[in-house]
Amino acid sequence: MSERIDALPSQPAPRWPVLGHERVTSTLTRALHAGQVHHAYLFAGPAGIGRTTLAYAFASALLCEAPLAERPCGHCRACERVARRVHPDVTRIALDAEPDDIKLISIDRIREFRASLSLRPLEGAWRVAIIDDAERLSRDAADALLKTLEEPPPYAVLLLIAEDTHALPETIRSRCQIFHLTPLPAHVIQEALSARGVSRERAKRIATLVRGRIAEAFRLVEDETALAGYEQRVGEVVAAMSEPLAAVGFARRLTEQYRRGKRAAVRKMLLLAAELWRDAVWLAADQAAPIVHEEARAALQALARRRGLAGTVAALEATLQSMADLEANVQARLALDALAVVWTEQSG
Ligand SMILES: [Zn+2]
Repeated sequence: MSERIDALPSQPAPRWPVLGHERVTSTLTRALHAGQVHHAYLFAGPAGIGRTTLAYAFASALLCEAPLAERPCGHCRACERVARRVHPDVTRIALDAEPDDIKLISIDRIREFRASLSLRPLEGAWRVAIIDDAERLSRDAADALLKTLEEPPPYAVLLLIAEDTHALPETIRSRCQIFHLTPLPAHVIQEALSARGVSRERAKRIATLVRGRIAEAFRLVEDETALAGYEQRVGEVVAAMSEPLAAVGFARRLTEQYRRGKRAAVRKMLLLAAELWRDAVWLAADQAAPIVHEEARAALQALARRRGLAGTVAALEATLQSMADLEANVQARLALDALAVVWTEQSG
């Protein structure tokens, strides 16, 4: 990582159409002002925290028609077209598939992209390519992309986006300037929601729930039932963690869903359970510990008191084990029934 360029006491950077990630936007602004734009960047971090938005904002800064110090201006023709995602010099490659589908970005897609990149920019000084889901490049596609990274056209800027940099070949990683993006602080999300007219109470609740994923926050604002559904799922899992009957019912429902092929939904519930158990572990160690699921603090505190540290750790481990078992195609019913038993053992 080489993003720690010392801040120059220059004029404040123009506001990028991005929430948070100030360290990245100011580093990229300085590179742009200094005429030191790299040919390839890698934005790494969890989905939903604004990685693609950041990539488009950088494209806007590169292609903006305003004087350098004012870019991205946000209202010139170029900025406006990047924002609408119709600028002819910005290409995006992505899977656009359900997370359950084990798909890869094909070599054909990268070949097509390399052909388009060989044409000079139509309007601006740069051609910007955004490659979403870069960890899903097929092996051949990655090799083809590497050729571009080794000898990029002078006007090309490639913006790769990935969850985990280590899922990418070292040959690709080493040719990118890497930015590790972190989830946005809750207060940034809360302020963004308030600025959109969401009530203080609701903004705070959503900001706590989404753990830095701004995209999820906007989804919950748009969709009333999504928030209610989320809270209902938390209640359902907490009940199953606390009571044997609820645990058995929970295991049965998940088994049934799994049989019907709804594996992503099952995984999502188990992931939520793992988060809640992790919170319980924190609380077993310290009743005042900050936790992710503040909304369930009282129930988790009671659970942590009853089971003690060893008991909550055992439940968390069993949850993670069941997720691994399902990935490994262990019979769902066995894995989930065993989980229900561990959850409701009155240990500690
Ligand atoms: Zn502009």
